[in-house]
Amino acid sequence: MPIYEYACEGCGKDFEELIVRRADEAEVACPACRSRQVSRRMSRPAATRTGAASGAGGPPPRCGPVG
Ligand SMILES: [Zn+2]
Repeated sequence: MPIYEYACEGCGKDFEELIVRRADEAEVACPACRSRQVSRRMSRPAATRTGAASGAGGPPPRCGPVG
């Protein structure tokens, strides 16, 4: 299930919200101060972007002489 990470711009609290429908994004409010001024953060668990937009399967980004 899509769980997005939000950061409140009012109190600075970061929280996670389960977004079932796309319309739920407009109703996301801070659980601490109930503020709508929240910004969604990119949450990619167990994944790191190195800039390479390759599909799947490939050598690691580390290149160097081995041996
Ligand atoms: Zn807040």
